[in-house]
Amino acid sequence: MADFKTHITTASIGSAMLATALVAGGGLSAGQGALLWLVGSGAGILPDIDSDSSRSIRYIFTVLAVACAISLIFLLPRTLSVYWFWGALAISFVSVRYGVMELFARFSVHRGIWHSLLAGVFCSFLAVWLSYEVFAHSARFSWLIGLFTGFGFLIHLLLDELYSVDLEGFELKTSFGSATKLLSLNSWPASLLLLVLSGALFWMLPDISALTGYLQNQPWERLLALHWPFQVMD
Ligand SMILES: [Zn+2]
Repeated sequence: MADFKTHITTASIGSAMLATALVAGGGLSAGQGALLWLVGSGAGILPDIDSDSSRSIRYIFTVLAVACAISLIFLLPRTLSVYWFWGALAISFVSVRYGVMELFARFSVHRGIWHSLLAGVFCSFLAVWLSYEVFAHSARFSWLIGLFTGFGFLIHLLLDELYSVDLEGFELKTSFGSATKLLSLNSWPASLLLLVLSGALFWMLPDISALTGYLQNQPWERLLALHWPFQVMD
């Protein structure tokens, strides 16, 4: 399986390429493109969240803890004094970074339900929901956040699968097939829960046509019509 550095590098390059293509296509600001790039890069380490000793879990939970603290700024009533804000933010950060991480590490198995396409779908839907409901982004941009989450997740799973192929001898290591799976049948109750939660989330999300319409209207022919020396055709 690929290591932390390979994962974050590959996901960063992939997301940067997709984000710049969308910015070039129009309709997105450079700042929005940069945010999508960050989301895709972060999602590239997300599937290893369940490997208890990995750097991934510490990075992911630090980012999650910061995101939760920032969300509190939006959610807390403006009438509170600044001391309450500081206290609430500190408690939120510490409880997510240490408390929730500790719980998560105890109850998850590496390459269990979390290392699957179903988990990728769930995380993408959750990202859309957070972006739309908590951060009040538009439906279209929220779906793009979800798209990049899924994209980073998929790159991770494919990379792990690639690393289980012994290229020199063209032999498959025993780990082949364990990285990219639709869902985990070994822990089917957890998979079922993830499936139900994904369905419930999808029902609460803004209409996905905001994303499909946007992608259809991208000038893909123009963006991809590169001819030597690399020039974009008009
Ligand atoms: Zn992995």
